[in-house]
Amino acid sequence: MSRPVRMSAGAVVWRPAGSKAKDGLEILLVHRPRHDDWTIPKGTVERGELRPTTAVREVEEETGVLARLGVPLIELEYEYTKGRTKNVAYWSATPISGDADAYVPNREIDGVSWVPLDKATRRLSYDNDRAVLDAFVERVETGAHKTRTLIVVRHAQARSRDRWRRDPLARPLTAAGKREAGRLRPVLAAYAIHHLHSSGALRCVQTLSPYADALHRPITVDHRLDEPRDGGPAKNRPVAEALLEDVAHKRPVAVCGHRTVIPRMLKAVGVDADAVSASPLPPAGLVVVHHRRGEVLATEHHALH
Ligand code: ATP
Repeated sequence: MSRPVRMSAGAVVWRPAGSKAKDGLEILLVHRPRHDDWTIPKGTVERGELRPTTAVREVEEETGVLARLGVPLIELEYEYTKGRTKNVAYWSATPISGDADAYVPNREIDGVSWVPLDKATRRLSYDNDRAVLDAFVERVETGAHKTRTLIVVRHAQARSRDRWRRDPLARPLTAAGKREAGRLRPVLAAYAIHHLHSSGALRCVQTLSPYADALHRPITVDHRLDEPRDGGPAKNRPVAEALLEDVAHKRPVAVCGHRTVIPRMLKAVGVDADAVSASPLPPAGLVVVHHRRGEVLATEHHALH
């Protein structure tokens, strides 16, 4: 029987090397005494974790820098020990806080360096890490490393519609749905979501609540995203207007809506919504949209189950 593939995630964390564009960029690399290698920070997915969360957690553990994810880069597959395969997903990321210079060397990592991008290829120990760097450089060359983020979330599992006799907007999440909402919290944190928008349905608000509560952020209700079956509008025009306001924000936005409305929400921002209609998001599933100047440069789909 073939062994399961070990899933991992990491990130190319970048920052400007100086105050002028010609100064270029530098990225974070780590030295591991156990293998005596220089690599891009990454590590193994923990139970119940989604890979965006792993990438940010591992970067922080290995460098002391808390980062926020930008565009996805590539996935690598390699044999990390005889007969065992590892799959690593990499993102581009930017630092939010923390100081690599203050990192305390330990048995896992004994060196953390901001390395000029044009010197990073030589510093890296593995060709496959160079392929990750190439994917990042490709993004830099088109300016696609500087994107804005919009996350469209489908609300978590809610109480049965058929048995609900009260206000349709007041139908809440189930206990399982609340657990799903809790699991979304670190995923939204990985993209440093700042603005939280929701349809008027309690089940949508509750889906964003664990993150909002932890970050002390307000959730803005937008009835233009209500589901027609709840008595709301969800007509094409108001949905499009709501989403165009969402993408205009500079800081990352998450907007929670309904299965039946999400294809229209995505279409409004220029994502191929037919693909989403063909295989709808599961409850608490999300689509991460990376955009720049009105153009969608990358999308990611994530599901908890
Ligand atoms: P982690 O917890 O970060 O996954 P690890 O030490 O358990 O760390 P790897 O980083 O995959 O696992 O290292 C196992 C072996 O895989 C190393 O000896 C190295 O030779 C090989 N390897 C091949 N490509 C890479 C790469 N891009 N990054 C790290 N190791 C690599």
